[in-house]
Amino acid sequence: MIRVLDAETIGQIAAGEVIERPVSVVKELVENALDADATRIAVRARGGGLVEIEVADDGIGIAPDQVALALRRHATSKLDDAAALTRIDTLGFRGEGLASIAAVARVTLISRTVHADVATAVDAFGEEIGEARPLAGPLGTRVVVRDLFANVPVRREYLRSSGAEFGRIASWLATLALAYPHVGFSLEHDGKTAFTFAPGDDMAARLRHVFGMQSSTMVPVRSHERHAAVSGWVSSPGDDRPDRRNQILFVNGRLLRSTLVSGAWSAAYRTFAMVGRHPYGVLYLQVPPNELDPNVHPTKSDVRLRHGDRVVGAVKDAIVTALRRGAVERLERSIS
Ligand code: ADP
Ligand code: MG
Repeated sequence: MIRVLDAETIGQIAAGEVIERPVSVVKELVENALDADATRIAVRARGGGLVEIEVADDGIGIAPDQVALALRRHATSKLDDAAALTRIDTLGFRGEGLASIAAVARVTLISRTVHADVATAVDAFGEEIGEARPLAGPLGTRVVVRDLFANVPVRREYLRSSGAEFGRIASWLATLALAYPHVGFSLEHDGKTAFTFAPGDDMAARLRHVFGMQSSTMVPVRSHERHAAVSGWVSSPGDDRPDRRNQILFVNGRLLRSTLVSGAWSAAYRTFAMVGRHPYGVLYLQVPPNELDPNVHPTKSDVRLRHGDRVVGAVKDAIVTALRRGAVERLERSIS
């Protein structure tokens, strides 16, 4: 017998594609904070994020009469119509983040804009969105998520220990922080600080956190072509790792994977006779928004680029140039 599913089941199925584990909650909330132009983002977790996750930002906030609306599925301020899909410059745009979290956890959204004297708070759980109520609170937005997957026991069974789930949160956030140096990030677990990155120029500290002490020998990459700007920090030839996990790629501010770009990255080092092992580092690729297909599934992160061949060329050239310059500089240092 064919039946139309009830709203609660539909919500949980849709949420399952976006919210797989605690780090997915952190990702949705932190991306919202970045889209709101936050300069400081504080993340706190308890019990690996299953007991509680809180993300607080100092961004633009949400107007009092819109706080409840923000929790509705397919409600977004970032997309007006289908045409706008080709020029997206925000991390979110589907209007699914908050609704998906609320489908599998208890959510309280508290927000205040500069135009409001007090903050507005709304609770949501499952398909129920509560009444907006005034609450004392600073400018910006704070989202508290409790009892993740309490209503989806099967989902909980897939999860690892709270330490392992927190590990995913910590490594995702520290990696993301590499692409937003002007934003301060802090992370706390069960009352203990995991890291604090100040807003502004502490890139060296962020690189050291992610790549270790060897990061001091990384080579800066900077090149600008018409179709792709490539920048970042990459490992010196000879300093390599056995796998590609440490090749971090941001395309237009999004943390993505690209088989094409990884290939070009490794190819650049072949000139320097490095075979079988992998360079590491972080690359930032900036392409016109319409070169990127934003409509890839939220969990499938292999990016689709309209002119992949151009991008591959730009990446390889940028890295080769940087490595040659790095080699010359090291030589000069050793002579003088
Ligand atoms: P999306 O990010 O795809 O728009 P979300 O469900 O994540 O969908 O958020 C819905 C809307 O709520 C956003 O479009 C935005 O207007 C508002 N919002 C969510 N989080 C924040 C935040 N931290 N600061 C300001 N506005 C926010
Ligand atoms: Mg969002």
